[in-house]
Amino acid sequence: GKGIAVFTSGGDSQGMNAAVRAVVRMGIYLGCKVYFIKEGYQGMVDGGENMVEANWSSVSCIIHKGGTIIGSARCQDFRERQGRLKAAKNLVDRGITNLVVIGGDGSLTGADLFRQEWSSLLDELLAMKQINAEQRQKYRSLHIAGMVGSIDNDFCGTDMTIGTDSALHRIIEAIDAIVCTAYSHQRTFIMEVMGRHCGYLSVVAALTSEADFVFCPESPPPEDWQKRLCDKLEQERNSGQRLNIIIVSEGATDRNGQPITAEQVKKVIVDNLNQDTRVTVLGHVQRGGSPSAFDRILGCRMGAEAVMALMEADDNTEPCVVTLDGNQAIRLPLMECVKKTKAVADAMHSKNFELAVELRGKS
Ligand code: ADP
Repeated sequence: GKGIAVFTSGGDSQGMNAAVRAVVRMGIYLGCKVYFIKEGYQGMVDGGENMVEANWSSVSCIIHKGGTIIGSARCQDFRERQGRLKAAKNLVDRGITNLVVIGGDGSLTGADLFRQEWSSLLDELLAMKQINAEQRQKYRSLHIAGMVGSIDNDFCGTDMTIGTDSALHRIIEAIDAIVCTAYSHQRTFIMEVMGRHCGYLSVVAALTSEADFVFCPESPPPEDWQKRLCDKLEQERNSGQRLNIIIVSEGATDRNGQPITAEQVKKVIVDNLNQDTRVTVLGHVQRGGSPSAFDRILGCRMGAEAVMALMEADDNTEPCVVTLDGNQAIRLPLMECVKKTKAVADAMHSKNFELAVELRGKS
């Protein structure tokens, strides 16, 4: 059978374990040898106990766990060719020529680069007599299938990334909990949520919690946002509402790209309306807890599809990323999606918010 390795890299997210589990079980079911690579690319570079064969039961009892049981890391070594050379040797030693990478756009970019270099890495290993000619021929092509694990939902080509739905649940639970206490005391509360330069979490959280105002990165507020905010809050209180909810995305800015923080928003409200105002920064709570049913199923389906993609790959197959399109797990060209994602990020950094929204909408 083929040798497949699965690893998680970059930031963790809920549902990664479901994906790992699906890769292991689908791989074994199809007669493959499946390996875990622990601690992301670092485990691939270091080898040894960080690369171990998985069996059916090694992924029992993990589907309900948040994070990733095989560990994730950022790895400087893999950014250097010497690190990738070591990683190639570790893979060939174990007969692994299929990689399932679960991570963000950085991790997927690294995988693509690794594949482009694969031939020359094997040539170098052959010249150094670290592998033999038979291995050079047998393991000549490396196949890659990616999946996106991220709570931010910031990847082009997929309707949802693995972890977003669970993070939303955490946010909504937290808002619901705070609403009760805020209601009792007629308070205004401001909640800062994650998402980097993607407003998905903030906007959906605002819509589903009846928030009065939301600051999201792609749609900076008008110049006179302070006045509009205060007018809105005052109007709500005057009409009998006992609490106000404001959601601020961690990546929110004004039209000039200057950050708008929860503390700034609080100051505007206290200075102008003198309302009892509290800030809650959810932080890593959003990445925590158990994955939602949606993320478990998403991980399962994507993991199974990733293995199918690797099974069907031949010498000429390009790396793919498994994404969600409607209710279907589909395969898309990996680098095309990464490039679109980067184009959106670039548009955001250069404050071209309309372009960012347009680019994201097209994917
Ligand atoms: P994410 O995958 O969540 O976007 P990072 O951008 O930190 O997170 O990438 C995770 C890891 O992937 C890095 O620590 C590095 O080991 C590897 N990586 C990222 N970009 C590259 C690259 N251009 N070349 C080689 N490896 C990379």
